[in-house]
Order: sequence, then C-alpha cells, then structure tokens
Amino acid sequence: MDLEALHAMSLQLRRDVVEMVYRTKDGHPSPSFSVADIITALYFEVMNIDPSNPGKSDRDRFVLSKGHACPVLYAALARRGYFPVDDLYTLRYLHSKLQGHPYAPKTKGLDATTGSLGNGVSIGLGMALAARIQKQANRVYVITGDGELGEGMLWEAAMAASHQKAANLTVFIDNNNYQSGGTVDEISGPYPIEDKWKAFGWHTQSIDG
Ligand SMILES: [Mg+2]
Repeated sequence: MDLEALHAMSLQLRRDVVEMVYRTKDGHPSPSFSVADIITALYFEVMNIDPSNPGKSDRDRFVLSKGHACPVLYAALARRGYFPVDDLYTLRYLHSKLQGHPYAPKTKGLDATTGSLGNGVSIGLGMALAARIQKQANRVYVITGDGELGEGMLWEAAMAASHQKAANLTVFIDNNNYQSGGTVDEISGPYPIEDKWKAFGWHTQSIDG
C-alpha cells in the first residue's frame, strides 16, 4: 500500500472502532485510536502474514500487550480478510469470538492472549527466541502502553531480550501519556522512556505518530 492508502485505512479502522464501541456500548476507543497508525502499518504493509493461512509457521507475530486496545486490532484483522467486517459488531457479546480483551483460541489471526498488563514483551521474547531456535526468519512485534511501563515483569523481559540479543523482536511503546485514571506523568512517572530502554541495551527510535 502507498502512504495515502495506509492513511485512509488507519481512518477506516478508527471509524470501525467508533461503530463497534457505539453498538456495544462498551470497550476502549481512545487507546485503540492511539495505536491505529502502528497497527495499520504492521498489518497492511510490514508484516509477513497470510489471512488465507493464518497459522503458517514462518509468519511474523504480533502481540498487543495493551490488550484493551483490541477493537482496533479486530478491525485490522477484519479489513485484512481474517473474518467478515460484520463480525466486528459482536464485540464483547457473550460467546462472541471478539472478546473484550484478545483471546487467541477464539479469534482467527490472533497470536497471543493478552490484557493482563505487563506480559506482552515476555510473550514476544519467547516467540522471538523460538523463531531463532527453529531457524525461522520471522519477526515479532509487540505494542505496550506507556502506563504499562509500571509493570515490573516488562523490565525483566527488556533485560532478558537484551542479554539474549533478540534482534528479531520489536517493541512499540504507545506514548499517549494517558493510563487509566489520569496522565502517566502524574501517576507512574515513566519518563525519560527512551533513555530507560537504551540503558537496558536496546536500540531505540522515537516516532511522531
Ligand atoms: Mg497510555
């Protein structure tokens, strides 16, 4: 996709989120909006995936560690062809395949069950090391929240990934400056975020979303 088409898709995904959350009267729209561009880039340009063969072993993997942002991930999966767009309107319904947080056994295209914050980098690191052991060239992408940086396990994973030189693992930190209950600088004080990851041995880049 060219840049214009990617931009149009990111707007479409945001519209899908509004429609889904409006119809269900529940869900998390704003944390979905703040990752819409990253998820659009990953699912429509970057990742090696095949909706007609969702389980192919050499596919790139994606872990939405901030699992409450799943409405936009579900929208991306539907628009990419994993399941019909109309299914989006079953978000959070009892027995729906689109649960309030990502539940991999129920939803085609999901690589990880998430929502309990802080686990995604560890899950992604496991996938990255498994790929290396199996001599597969796929990459693993993880999105965490910025409030989520308050979870200690995430830093254990950051340290372990650096020690293991897991160069096939990419972590996006969605720095929207908000977490449940207020701004991250008021509540959890994660700044300076980039310097902390550098200190843990990571190559870092800041992107103006
Ligand atoms: Mg946040």
